[in-house]
Amino acid sequence: MGTLKRKHKGNKRGRRTGRTGFCFSIALTAGILGMAVSQTMVWAAPKSEKPIEKSNMIIADQAAELQAGQEAEEISSLMQAKESEAGRQSPVQNKVEEVETEEAEYPLIAIDPGHGGVDSGCVGKKAEEKDVNLQIALELEKKLTEKGYRVLVLREKDEFQGLMDRVEIANSYQADVYVSIHQNTYEGKDKTVGGIETWYDGADAARDNQRLALLVHRETVKSTGARGRGVIDSKDLYVASKTLMPACLIETGFLSNPQEEKLLASADYQKKLAEGIARGIELYFHPGIMYVPFAEAPWKMSAGANM
Ligand SMILES: [Zn+2]
Repeated sequence: MGTLKRKHKGNKRGRRTGRTGFCFSIALTAGILGMAVSQTMVWAAPKSEKPIEKSNMIIADQAAELQAGQEAEEISSLMQAKESEAGRQSPVQNKVEEVETEEAEYPLIAIDPGHGGVDSGCVGKKAEEKDVNLQIALELEKKLTEKGYRVLVLREKDEFQGLMDRVEIANSYQADVYVSIHQNTYEGKDKTVGGIETWYDGADAARDNQRLALLVHRETVKSTGARGRGVIDSKDLYVASKTLMPACLIETGFLSNPQEEKLLASADYQKKLAEGIARGIELYFHPGIMYVPFAEAPWKMSAGANM
């Protein structure tokens, strides 16, 4: 939908690798289409005793530079595709476009601050859910950007945004993870009901929603000291069900609980929440290296991209 407001954020670290991706794609495009290869490109190719077709040299050179795991696999599949007949050019072209996407190797996190505009969400004595959601979301954006992630904030101010629109934007950007931020309310008399709940849709195990929800939940309970009320499997939450990427929805506390309302409205507590959610996301992508920032992860260093 053309009227939808889209924001695609990057960061310094991301842009740096984005440039690598760009050069890579030019080389591939030149090779695959059999275009004239510039002297600089030939010069950049590794010396080899065997004569190699120019375009393959360039791809091989890139393969050497980007040794590690997945990227090398991608290159090898590109080379195989290139070796096949011209009739198979279309999937290769698609792949080139994929590689061309700036900063493509950095996961894109869609942050959904619940409610907004005429839809306040739940309300406490003073605080309104829509405002607190947005404040936490912007804090989370900061934390994730610092860690090297790309971030897509679905609502950046106090405005109404339909659930379908949120899902459509995240899906169209092919976000890698979707986290929706909300607060809870308890309608009964007991004002002490409080704590954090995290929801996900477990129907499609391939989406890995449960693992994301568990990690985000666990880390946020840890970072805030709040009561963990559990991780809940449900098909009833539109944004968690209709998104195509791993998704969860975190209820960060109860606005019906005066103590929690005070905390939720404070910048310090919002930072703790954001920190926990960010750490959960970090663990989702790097289960074995808990406190290493994304850009400094070992695979990144071995790929030579962390200069
Ligand atoms: Zn809500």
